[in-house]
Amino acid sequence: MPSKAIEVRDLWFRYEEGEWVLKGINLDIEEGELVAIMGENGAGKTTLIKHFNGLLKPIRGYVKVKGIDTREASVAELAKFVGLVFQNPEHQIFAETVEEEVAFALRNFGYDKEEIRIRVERALKEMNLYEYRDRNPFSLSGGEKKRLALASVLVYDPEIIIMDEPTTGQDYKQKQVLGGIIERLNAKGRTLIVVTHDTEFVAEFFDDIIIMVDGRILARGRVEKLLTNEAIMKKARLLLPQLAEAATYLKGKVNFTGNYLKVENFVKCIAEAMG
Ligand code: ADP
Repeated sequence: MPSKAIEVRDLWFRYEEGEWVLKGINLDIEEGELVAIMGENGAGKTTLIKHFNGLLKPIRGYVKVKGIDTREASVAELAKFVGLVFQNPEHQIFAETVEEEVAFALRNFGYDKEEIRIRVERALKEMNLYEYRDRNPFSLSGGEKKRLALASVLVYDPEIIIMDEPTTGQDYKQKQVLGGIIERLNAKGRTLIVVTHDTEFVAEFFDDIIIMVDGRILARGRVEKLLTNEAIMKKARLLLPQLAEAATYLKGKVNFTGNYLKVENFVKCIAEAMG
């Protein structure tokens, strides 16, 4: 049996004396899973994932990460196996150069100099930031800062990687690169949890999604089931992906199977229908 990366039981949370933001969340994420968390602004997605590295602690219920109750561990302890890439990269950036920023976690974890050099170079190249290595992080564009924040986490290769809205400010090519990195990390056995309301990105790179509405989980399941379900999408105030719209016109003529919201699979289904 696969063991649990994250276990959430009856999680309730609110900020100070405000309204409840998370209202009884139950959720299991197995090791090696790849899942997207979707939902409109204010649904509670960021608040939920901040519980996965112990930044926020449940008011009621519990969150366990690899079996460890987050109330009994510090963020630093959990950071060894959970990497969270924030939505706003400026909350994560503090070094004087791009290179130093990416090296930070490795220095903290006590890696030796040569290993740090190799890993930092690899992460910067992967995120297409190598030429900026001597720049001040704050001089980068919004999209570049997001890639820097991602590089700073990927460089130490945590078992569980959480990304909050990673596609914001990225062009089509960068999104494809990001999708490829997500797929590759997952193929290596890493657990990935990605918060996004980019339906096209989810359709192309994910099979399993969680949809949140107003502090609760509305649904969890296969992408092609949920992202084509008009009632659910309406309730979650999400846009239907273009291929879901296209498929409704072709139903009856084309037999859509598998995750046909991926372009490649969509085309395959049409080719089969055409003989
Ligand atoms: P999402 O990520 O789905 O957009 P959030 O978790 O960011 O949702 O926010 C959920 C709710 O919690 C919103 O109503 C938001 O205003 C509120 N909230 C988020 N952060 C804070 C905070 N630091 N203090 C008070 N309220 C907050």
